[in-house]
Amino acid sequence: MTVANTNPLEMLLRCSKAEGECILWTGTIRPSGHGVFKLRGRAIPAHRISYKLAYPELDLEKPKRLVVRHLCTNPACINPSHLTHGHQSENIQDMMEGRGQGRLSPKDIYHWKELRLRGWTVTDIAKLYKRDNSTVWHALHGNSWRHLFDPLPTYGRGKPYRNRPEA
Ligand SMILES: [Zn+2]
Repeated sequence: MTVANTNPLEMLLRCSKAEGECILWTGTIRPSGHGVFKLRGRAIPAHRISYKLAYPELDLEKPKRLVVRHLCTNPACINPSHLTHGHQSENIQDMMEGRGQGRLSPKDIYHWKELRLRGWTVTDIAKLYKRDNSTVWHALHGNSWRHLFDPLPTYGRGKPYRNRPEA
């Protein structure tokens, strides 16, 4: 196979398979679990290529090199909606905090909102973070963590729709 002539998108589609919500790289995998994409003799993380293709307007190298990290627990996943970008320090912090365990931080809540805006359901987010649906729902609707951001629209004064008096 002549790698030099390979279209990256074609290569991603050919070397991946869906597994649940994730799209797993089926090519070379590093000991860390991350997929490797070989392009013109260079080995590039597959999820990084996938993210670049999904967000072509984003410059991951300048002015400062950004890392592409996973929101899901599959390092081999190349689904762009399971990826986000940030700085190396955040990546290390993620590892130290251990997603899905311990206390929630404002960063987690921002992530939930980001995921929700990308079309994730409350259930999906709750599953990813191993939390109750209600914890996620209340955070996203501004009932908890109210100080962090403007809540998503609620019906009436934050009451569930079914409790509204008949008009
Ligand atoms: Zn994934």
